[in-house]
Amino acid sequence: MAALPERARDVVEYRKSGLSLNHIQGCPLGCAYCIRHTYGLWDARLPQALMSDAEAVEQFVSHRYFRPHDTPLQVFNRATDPFLPGVREHLFAVLEDLDSRELTNHMLVITRARMNVSDCERLNALRHLKVTLLFTYSGIGDKRIEPHPAQTVVNSMRLATAHAARRYRTIFYWRPLVPGLNDTTAHLARAAVLSGWADATVFTGLFYRDEIADYYRANGLPEPYQETARRKIVPETLERRILARFARRPSGAPPLFRKTSCAVSYVHGLPDYNGHYGINELCDICPAAQLDMCARAHQVPTAPQLHEAAAGLPEAAHMHVTEVTERAAQVEGLPSEQPRYYLQHRLAFQIHDAAHPHRQRRHGRADLGWESANG
Ligand code: SF4
Repeated sequence: MAALPERARDVVEYRKSGLSLNHIQGCPLGCAYCIRHTYGLWDARLPQALMSDAEAVEQFVSHRYFRPHDTPLQVFNRATDPFLPGVREHLFAVLEDLDSRELTNHMLVITRARMNVSDCERLNALRHLKVTLLFTYSGIGDKRIEPHPAQTVVNSMRLATAHAARRYRTIFYWRPLVPGLNDTTAHLARAAVLSGWADATVFTGLFYRDEIADYYRANGLPEPYQETARRKIVPETLERRILARFARRPSGAPPLFRKTSCAVSYVHGLPDYNGHYGINELCDICPAAQLDMCARAHQVPTAPQLHEAAAGLPEAAHMHVTEVTERAAQVEGLPSEQPRYYLQHRLAFQIHDAAHPHRQRRHGRADLGWESANG
């Protein structure tokens, strides 16, 4: 453990879609854009356990960010794939332990690996957790960027979705979208067909961070962008083409979402736990019943309520609420994104960092590729 890069040592970390447990690290699938680059873990190809599953679950449920039945959770979404042969048993040990505690939290499981029928049966035996499987598919054909065959994840998604009378839900996780690599008309048409094999679809762009750009350059890979960015990148014209293509699917096709938490909430019949409803321009593609549910759940917190929610967090001692609108609360003085995500999920309301303002109509996305004026 001590030999690991500093960021990789935290096995519990708040990420945007939920509190994430990562006591198994290492992945042989070799996607060039992997987030492992940013944790100094790119060379870790063999999944390795940093502690026992029981110990990891104990750390998870006793973490100050963990709230029973409330905090959205994720497992093995940072440094490995949960359905790799050496990881699967750890995945089920974690899920079954949490489920035996009768916890009803959201649990996001993101994969591109091979699943089998017994995986579906075991997932379906979980009685309490709200499990969502997110199947990562990009359609990128360049084997230097994505060596793992895409057909594997397509097969897993079809198998999991076709499983009879299931409690868990499935999402076609179409990402990363990269202009010039996987955005031809044929790519969009293929994705539209595949979207029929899941309960919902989310499309997102690429985290093109400095460490990933360095890797692309060092290996002579075609660079998608000239600049790097903190947020994911989906150019505006590409988004318009995606919406137009998906609008041509047969009526009754599973819906398309811009945000992971929106899709996860929708498939379980719940309002968005990230409170994206405040950023209403995100909602124009959402089914009417879902929109209505989110509208009813939307509550704008007061500044005292924000402070009260942050009261148990020592790292929020210097938080200052600069503004609260119908859309979002703006705060400053938080040392990282983690307490901000905690507050966002706790209040189901968008919390923005004054140091990283969100622009209208490109919410949560990098500025690259969004040239036109707001509104
Ligand atoms: S109504 Fe808006 S916030 Fe709610 S799920 Fe739909 S897109 Fe997300």
